[in-house]
Amino acid sequence: MSAREIVEIGHPVLRERSREVTLEELRSREVQDLIDDLIDTKRAANGAGLAANQVGATLRIAVVEVTERNPRYPYKPPIPLTVVVNPVIEPLDDEVAYINEGCLSVPNLRGEVPRYLAVGVRYLDREGREHEEVRHGLAAGTFQHELDHLDGTLFLDRVVDPRTLTTWTEFERFHRDAFLERAARIVERFGS
Ligand code: ZN
Repeated sequence: MSAREIVEIGHPVLRERSREVTLEELRSREVQDLIDDLIDTKRAANGAGLAANQVGATLRIAVVEVTERNPRYPYKPPIPLTVVVNPVIEPLDDEVAYINEGCLSVPNLRGEVPRYLAVGVRYLDREGREHEEVRHGLAAGTFQHELDHLDGTLFLDRVVDPRTLTTWTEFERFHRDAFLERAARIVERFGS
């Protein structure tokens, strides 16, 4: 169990479509170790989630977890640790909100990304059991961000207006308050 190196934008592995994991592979020590390391790496970096290709493994596995008062995203309500294997996500309606996002593989940049506010997620957990869940609000956005990674998509690809891009420092100085107000309205409505 250890944190692995997170690759950054420009590394080709972030642009590949990751492949499905077989049940046999999922049971292997190698893949179980990878899942443990994804969790450790995400926690060490204070991320809201991490996809396997962000540590160089092109398998369809991601972890999502938001703890109380995450220092990178203090406005996100907690999400219990969720390991998703071979996930499939679909919007439940057309409504989107512009969410200000960052990414551990895109250092020091944030931008506004349209995300569906209600999604269905089907996946296997690390033991291979099937799950089907509905996620709403900011949590729905977090899942869309992580599952995008598995298709080689970064949040930057979905930024509609590049003028919303900011460094983390300038976000804090000029954009944080307006976004926190919008985020609070989403959380009030969906509880997540
Ligand atoms: Zn990311």
